[in-house]
Amino acid sequence: MSGRNSIASIKPRDVAATLLWLGVVLWWLNLQLGQVAAAEQRDVDRREPKRVLLLHSFGRDFLPWSEYARSIKANLEQRSPWPLDIQEHTLLTARFIAPGPEGPFVEYLRSIYEGHPPDIVMSIGGPAAGFVQRHRAELFPKAPMVLTTVEERLIDRASLTERDAVVSVRHDFVAAFRNVLQVLPDTRTIALVIGASKLERFWLEEVKKDIGPLEERVSFVWYGDLPFDEILKKASVLPPHTALFWGLMSVDAAGVVHDGESALHRLRAVANAPIFCFEESFFGRDIVGGPMHSIPELGQKTADAALRILGGEKPADVKIEPIAYAVPKYDWRELQRWGISESNLPQGSEVLFREPRIWEKYRWQLALIAAVILVQAGLISGLLHERRGRRLAEVESRQRLAELAHVNRYSAVGELTASIAHELNQPLGSILTNAETAELMLKGSSPDLQEIREILADIRRDDQRASEVIRRLRSVLKKAPFEIRDIELKETVREVIGFVGDVASGRNTVLSFHAPPDLELNVKGDPIQLQQVVLNLILNALDAISEVQRGKREVSVIMGRSANHAEIRVGDTGPGIAVADLKTIFDPFFTTKPEGMGMGLAIVRTIVEAHHGTISAENQPFGGALFTVRLPLAG
Ligand code: ADP
Repeated sequence: MSGRNSIASIKPRDVAATLLWLGVVLWWLNLQLGQVAAAEQRDVDRREPKRVLLLHSFGRDFLPWSEYARSIKANLEQRSPWPLDIQEHTLLTARFIAPGPEGPFVEYLRSIYEGHPPDIVMSIGGPAAGFVQRHRAELFPKAPMVLTTVEERLIDRASLTERDAVVSVRHDFVAAFRNVLQVLPDTRTIALVIGASKLERFWLEEVKKDIGPLEERVSFVWYGDLPFDEILKKASVLPPHTALFWGLMSVDAAGVVHDGESALHRLRAVANAPIFCFEESFFGRDIVGGPMHSIPELGQKTADAALRILGGEKPADVKIEPIAYAVPKYDWRELQRWGISESNLPQGSEVLFREPRIWEKYRWQLALIAAVILVQAGLISGLLHERRGRRLAEVESRQRLAELAHVNRYSAVGELTASIAHELNQPLGSILTNAETAELMLKGSSPDLQEIREILADIRRDDQRASEVIRRLRSVLKKAPFEIRDIELKETVREVIGFVGDVASGRNTVLSFHAPPDLELNVKGDPIQLQQVVLNLILNALDAISEVQRGKREVSVIMGRSANHAEIRVGDTGPGIAVADLKTIFDPFFTTKPEGMGMGLAIVRTIVEAHHGTISAENQPFGGALFTVRLPLAG
């Protein structure tokens, strides 16, 4: 009951709306399924490999075509959404001067591709383009074709079909030769190296047709009818102001096949003129450069065309402008070799293979050397600074030493005052006595003039003696800066002996001096200071002896030579030095005397060391002390 009611309650308008909705949903589902199926189909298509037939003109390794082919394949493989099966064949007949029949090769290709044509046919170079155009109907009636790496003039435009696309280049011989003349304005002759294949003969004729406007400026030589060995000979003895132009050399006039690259190397090795060429594949070793066809540009444009066609576009719709020369490029090494100034190059050109300058090449090594030099310079200036500081300190210490030594001499002379007074008194006393005697004699009636003369001579001698005592005293007391000069040590020491001789005898002591007469002891030193050394040692010896009551009283100064040193030995017959004191005897303020200062020996050692010498003290076997001074001999 209720069911009937409910059915009756359904309105026809609701039914229609429901059906409409249902319809929309079904349509949408269908659409989605369709898209999934299309995507699956596309995936299937993508997985399906595309068969690409590449037909070479002269061979797979023949420059310049081999480089173009490499770039085309690299572009295709990189950008193709499908796996690619690239099959390559070579049209060998192009290499013959008199090509044989093409029939067998056509037959061969047909047997491979009949019933199973490639997805695309790509011809590389002029001869291959001609071949595929000639045999399209028999070989690949339906397959799309791309004629690439072919000069405009080699395309048979009339036979192009809907299924053909062309990626061509344009050789502008006049522009290429003009570039030679711009780079080397003195050029008088351009020699064109070209082979003898059908293609090369064609091009030679084309060049001859094109160069009309240039013939006034430069003369041309053609090597098209020479075997390559002959060309090499000619290239090695070209007259000045000649440039070589590398056209092509696949087959020479003797029928010898050349793969391009090694032939060019051979030419470059012997040629006495620069080589130009508009094929980029020869750039980088043998040629100067100039405007050239760009390999990457052609590779990329050919791959564009092929991929568009494989993607379903109609080949005839794929229109690509003939490719002209790229921006001129030059090899820096060749520019250097032929003395070509960069200012001659066209504006905007690129110069490649520039050898890095020495500092660019060895950047880090040079940086290291610079760093080492800097560090060394720093060290040296530091050392110089230190040396200067040390010199100043040395000078200062010498001045101090001189001052100290001067004070020390004053005190030494103070000790000698009594003896000096005695020394002066003697001549002065004699002078007085002699003067009085002379006065008395003169008072007499007949003075003995001869005697008076002798008395006056005595007075003069005594005066000289007194003057000598004062001179020596002044010289010892002289306040002089430390000054090194060449001196003869025996004489220097002998003066001291003369000075203290009387002092010694005043103290009842014998002062003896021994120096081998035939021995010269030349040293570099300050004579006043060295005299002070000897004076101090003698005074100390006299002091030591004064303690002795009995026995021999003698101070001996002996000079000699040991190896390359002058030696002064001051020995005495005093009590000697206590063994414990031998080490400290030269220390400042070491003294055993009640009134002593303890500076005498310290000053002596400082003076000796300032003269690069040594001093030592010891006790003699028979008693008494012995001081030995050693000073380096000059020279
Ligand atoms: P000073 O004479 O003022 O004592 P020195 O430095 O000249 O200072 O001498 C230091 C000490 O060395 C002396 O006090 C003495 O004990 C000892 N001496 C120096 N020369 C002799 C010598 N010839 N014999 C024994 N002792 C000596």
